Amino acid sequence: MHMQNMPYVLSGKIKITADPDNPEGLPHKHVSFYMHYSSFVFKSLQKCSFQRFLDKMLKTENIREQSITEVHVKVFPQRRSNGRGLAGNCVPARGKIQIYPKTMTFCRLFKQKFGKSTFLAYACSRARAALIHELLHLKYAMDENRVRKLAQKYFYAFTQKKPTHSRLSLLSYTMIFMARQPMFSAFMRSSRVSAEPTRL
Ligand SMILES: [Zn+2]
Repeated sequence: MHMQNMPYVLSGKIKITADPDNPEGLPHKHVSFYMHYSSFVFKSLQKCSFQRFLDKMLKTENIREQSITEVHVKVFPQRRSNGRGLAGNCVPARGKIQIYPKTMTFCRLFKQKFGKSTFLAYACSRARAALIHELLHLKYAMDENRVRKLAQKYFYAFTQKKPTHSRLSLLSYTMIFMARQPMFSAFMRSSRVSAEPTRL
Protein backbone atom coordinates (compact mmCIF):
# COMPACT_ATOMS: atom_id res chain seq x y z
CA MET A 1 0.00 0.00 0.00
CA HIS A 2 1.49 3.33 -1.03
CA MET A 3 0.31 6.24 1.00
CA GLN A 4 3.40 8.45 0.71
CA ASN A 5 1.62 11.10 -1.27
CA MET A 6 -1.19 11.58 1.15
CA PRO A 7 -1.29 15.04 2.63
CA TYR A 8 -1.92 14.08 6.23
CA VAL A 9 0.65 14.10 9.01
CA LEU A 10 0.22 10.46 9.99
CA SER A 11 -0.86 8.76 6.80
CA GLY A 12 2.64 7.63 5.80
CA LYS A 13 3.68 6.64 9.32
CA ILE A 14 1.12 3.93 10.03
CA LYS A 15 2.22 0.33 9.41
CA ILE A 16 0.96 -3.12 10.20
CA THR A 17 3.47 -5.21 12.15
CA ALA A 18 3.57 -8.73 13.51
CA ASP A 19 6.61 -9.36 15.62
CA PRO A 20 7.11 -12.06 16.51
CA ASP A 21 5.18 -13.51 13.55
CA ASN A 22 3.07 -15.81 15.60
CA PRO A 23 3.81 -15.42 19.30
CA GLU A 24 1.84 -18.34 20.66
CA GLY A 25 1.94 -20.74 17.75
CA LEU A 26 -1.67 -19.91 16.98
CA PRO A 27 -3.62 -22.07 14.52
CA HIS A 28 -4.04 -20.77 10.99
CA LYS A 29 -7.66 -19.74 11.60
CA HIS A 30 -6.60 -17.39 14.40
CA VAL A 31 -3.70 -15.94 12.42
CA SER A 32 -5.98 -15.24 9.52
CA PHE A 33 -8.55 -13.61 11.84
CA TYR A 34 -5.89 -11.27 13.26
CA MET A 35 -4.56 -10.44 9.79
CA HIS A 36 -8.05 -9.35 8.73
CA TYR A 37 -8.54 -7.43 11.95
CA SER A 38 -5.29 -5.50 11.56
CA SER A 39 -5.93 -4.62 7.96
CA PHE A 40 -9.43 -3.41 8.90
CA VAL A 41 -7.93 -1.27 11.68
CA PHE A 42 -5.25 0.05 9.33
CA LYS A 43 -7.91 1.18 6.86
CA SER A 44 -10.01 2.73 9.63
CA LEU A 45 -7.05 4.76 10.82
CA GLN A 46 -6.17 5.86 7.28
CA LYS A 47 -9.67 7.13 6.44
CA CYS A 48 -9.42 10.73 5.23
CA SER A 49 -12.11 11.99 7.59
CA PHE A 50 -10.19 10.59 10.56
CA GLN A 51 -6.77 11.74 9.32
CA ARG A 52 -8.13 15.23 8.79
CA PHE A 53 -9.49 15.18 12.30
CA LEU A 54 -6.12 14.05 13.71
CA ASP A 55 -4.30 16.82 11.83
CA LYS A 56 -6.56 19.36 13.49
CA MET A 57 -6.10 17.79 16.90
CA LEU A 58 -2.29 17.77 16.54
CA LYS A 59 -2.40 21.40 15.55
CA THR A 60 -4.70 22.40 18.41
CA GLU A 61 -2.51 20.52 20.87
CA ASN A 62 0.67 21.81 19.32
CA ILE A 63 2.07 18.31 18.84
CA ARG A 64 4.73 18.52 16.16
CA GLU A 65 4.90 16.13 13.24
CA GLN A 66 8.53 15.29 14.08
CA SER A 67 7.57 14.01 17.51
CA ILE A 68 5.75 11.08 15.87
CA THR A 69 7.97 8.49 14.18
CA GLU A 70 5.82 5.41 13.72
CA VAL A 71 2.38 4.08 14.48
CA HIS A 72 2.36 0.28 14.52
CA VAL A 73 -0.92 -1.54 14.10
CA LYS A 74 0.01 -4.79 15.80
CA VAL A 75 -1.45 -7.97 14.37
CA PHE A 76 -1.60 -9.90 17.65
CA PRO A 77 -3.14 -8.88 20.99
CA GLN A 78 -1.04 -8.00 23.98
CA ARG A 79 -1.95 -8.84 27.57
CA ARG A 80 -1.09 -6.69 30.53
CA SER A 81 0.36 -8.31 33.59
CA ASN A 82 -3.12 -8.16 35.16
CA GLY A 83 -4.46 -10.29 32.31
CA ARG A 84 -6.40 -7.48 30.69
CA GLY A 85 -5.97 -6.65 27.04
CA LEU A 86 -4.04 -3.58 26.06
CA ALA A 87 -5.47 -1.19 23.45
CA GLY A 88 -2.34 0.81 22.83
CA ASN A 89 0.88 2.18 24.19
CA CYS A 90 3.34 4.93 23.50
CA VAL A 91 7.03 5.56 23.98
CA PRO A 92 7.04 9.38 23.90
CA ALA A 93 10.84 9.67 23.79
CA ARG A 94 10.95 7.64 20.56
CA GLY A 95 7.67 8.88 19.14
CA LYS A 96 6.54 5.32 18.76
CA ILE A 97 2.92 4.25 19.15
CA GLN A 98 1.45 0.74 19.08
CA ILE A 99 -2.20 -0.17 18.65
CA TYR A 100 -3.36 -3.66 19.66
CA PRO A 101 -6.44 -5.74 18.73
CA LYS A 102 -8.95 -7.41 21.01
CA THR A 103 -8.64 -11.18 21.32
CA MET A 104 -10.44 -13.44 18.88
CA THR A 105 -12.51 -14.91 21.72
CA PHE A 106 -13.76 -11.48 22.76
CA CYS A 107 -14.57 -10.59 19.15
CA ARG A 108 -16.51 -13.79 18.58
CA LEU A 109 -18.67 -13.27 21.68
CA PHE A 110 -19.17 -9.63 20.83
CA LYS A 111 -20.31 -10.48 17.29
CA GLN A 112 -22.72 -13.13 18.57
CA LYS A 113 -24.26 -10.67 20.98
CA PHE A 114 -24.37 -7.45 18.99
CA GLY A 115 -23.99 -8.46 15.34
CA LYS A 116 -21.24 -7.90 12.82
CA SER A 117 -21.81 -4.25 11.97
CA THR A 118 -21.76 -3.21 15.63
CA PHE A 119 -18.59 -5.23 16.10
CA LEU A 120 -16.88 -3.53 13.16
CA ALA A 121 -17.94 -0.10 14.43
CA TYR A 122 -16.59 -0.99 17.86
CA ALA A 123 -13.25 -2.33 16.56
CA CYS A 124 -12.79 0.74 14.39
CA SER A 125 -13.71 3.18 17.17
CA ARG A 126 -11.57 1.38 19.72
CA ALA A 127 -8.48 1.69 17.51
CA ARG A 128 -9.19 5.34 16.74
CA ALA A 129 -9.76 6.16 20.41
CA ALA A 130 -6.50 4.35 21.22
CA LEU A 131 -4.57 6.35 18.63
CA ILE A 132 -6.02 9.66 19.89
CA HIS A 133 -5.10 8.65 23.44
CA GLU A 134 -1.53 7.64 22.59
CA LEU A 135 -0.93 10.76 20.50
CA LEU A 136 -1.93 12.87 23.49
CA HIS A 137 0.65 10.99 25.57
CA LEU A 138 3.32 12.51 23.33
CA LYS A 139 2.47 15.84 24.88
CA TYR A 140 1.13 15.01 28.33
CA ALA A 141 3.51 12.11 28.99
CA MET A 142 2.55 10.42 32.27
CA ASP A 143 -0.47 12.61 33.06
CA GLU A 144 -2.92 9.75 32.53
CA ASN A 145 -5.97 11.59 33.86
CA ARG A 146 -5.47 14.53 31.58
CA VAL A 147 -4.87 12.24 28.60
CA ARG A 148 -8.03 10.27 29.34
CA LYS A 149 -10.24 13.31 29.69
CA LEU A 150 -8.90 14.91 26.54
CA ALA A 151 -9.08 11.67 24.55
CA GLN A 152 -12.71 11.29 25.53
CA LYS A 153 -13.44 14.88 24.53
CA TYR A 154 -11.72 14.55 21.15
CA PHE A 155 -13.21 11.18 20.33
CA TYR A 156 -16.68 12.43 21.20
CA ALA A 157 -16.15 15.45 18.94
CA PHE A 158 -15.13 13.10 16.15
CA THR A 159 -18.25 10.93 16.52
CA GLN A 160 -20.36 14.08 16.25
CA LYS A 161 -18.88 14.76 12.82
CA LYS A 162 -20.25 11.58 11.33
CA PRO A 163 -24.01 11.89 10.95
CA THR A 164 -24.31 8.82 8.71
CA HIS A 165 -23.00 6.42 11.32
CA SER A 166 -23.90 8.36 14.40
CA ARG A 167 -25.88 5.57 16.05
CA LEU A 168 -23.04 3.09 15.83
CA SER A 169 -20.29 5.58 16.67
CA LEU A 170 -22.21 6.78 19.68
CA LEU A 171 -22.75 3.21 20.80
CA SER A 172 -19.03 2.54 20.41
CA TYR A 173 -18.25 5.72 22.30
CA THR A 174 -20.43 4.47 25.14
CA MET A 175 -18.83 1.03 25.09
CA ILE A 176 -15.33 2.46 25.15
CA PHE A 177 -15.68 5.32 27.58
CA MET A 178 -18.69 4.50 29.74
CA ALA A 179 -17.94 0.85 30.41
CA ARG A 180 -17.20 1.62 34.04
CA GLN A 181 -20.61 3.07 34.79
CA PRO A 182 -22.63 0.64 36.93
CA MET A 183 -25.69 0.33 34.68
CA PHE A 184 -23.64 -0.25 31.59
CA SER A 185 -21.24 -2.72 33.14
CA ALA A 186 -24.17 -4.73 34.52
CA PHE A 187 -25.57 -4.88 31.02
CA MET A 188 -22.26 -5.97 29.56
CA ARG A 189 -21.82 -8.61 32.25
CA SER A 190 -25.23 -10.00 31.50
CA SER A 191 -24.23 -10.28 27.87
CA ARG A 192 -21.10 -12.26 28.78
CA VAL A 193 -18.93 -9.76 26.97
CA SER A 194 -16.77 -7.83 29.32
CA ALA A 195 -16.31 -4.46 27.71
CA GLU A 196 -13.46 -3.76 30.03
CA PRO A 197 -12.91 -0.05 30.32
CA THR A 198 -10.42 0.73 27.65
CA ARG A 199 -7.30 1.35 29.67
CA LEU A 200 -4.96 2.63 27.08
ZN1 LIG B 1 -2.60 6.21 28.77
